[in-house]
Amino acid sequence: MSGSLFIVAAPSGAGKTSLVKALAASIADIRLSISHTTRPPRPGERDGMDYHFVTEAIFETMQRGGGFLEHAQVFGHRYGTAKKSVLPLLAQGLDVILEIDWQGRRQVQAQFPHCVSIFILPPSRETLEHRLRLRGQDTEAVVARRMGDACAEISHYNEFDYLVVNDNFEVACADLMTIVQSRRLLRLRQEKKLKSLLGELLG
Ligand code: 5GP
Repeated sequence: MSGSLFIVAAPSGAGKTSLVKALAASIADIRLSISHTTRPPRPGERDGMDYHFVTEAIFETMQRGGGFLEHAQVFGHRYGTAKKSVLPLLAQGLDVILEIDWQGRRQVQAQFPHCVSIFILPPSRETLEHRLRLRGQDTEAVVARRMGDACAEISHYNEFDYLVVNDNFEVACADLMTIVQSRRLLRLRQEKKLKSLLGELLG
């Protein structure tokens, strides 16, 4: 039985990574896909855990070899979801979460029309700006650029199935769990799992 694909996107500063990690830790049989990127690691990020950090040359070779399910250029760096990071998990019946941008969603949806896409929003412009400032001692110009990038990402919200506002972390996490659970209860998934029960009930 094949698992489901969940795409989670957000502007930076919406708290997506922490939410998705909490979601993966709270539900059984769901895995987070680890993307490949040419971006250098930030302090505290670990290769193979947060991303597979690769050179331009390796990324290019993977792309030419058809190794990516989707890939995109985001803020000057290349990011991609390797097929081998996702397809074997789905084949095992596990659900997989892709933390990718709107460009990636379009490519994945073309190949997996039944994937579920979720966009996470910050609760206000003020909170977004505050969260973007918290990231370091940045100049006004850097903060303004990040706000511009965030707004550009948010402008694609209407391409997603679900919108979740990350105001209260626990509430947003529960919202994500509800989306995953409801997907798992779809008749198409349930009827395979409940084959013998249905057979017994129907005689
Ligand atoms: P960051 O460098 O801050 O971790 O991520 C920057 C942006 O790249 C985020 O919007 C993130 O969702 C997106 N991103 C991360 N991995 C992938 C990927 O594999 N594919 C695509 N299309 N976008 C990605």
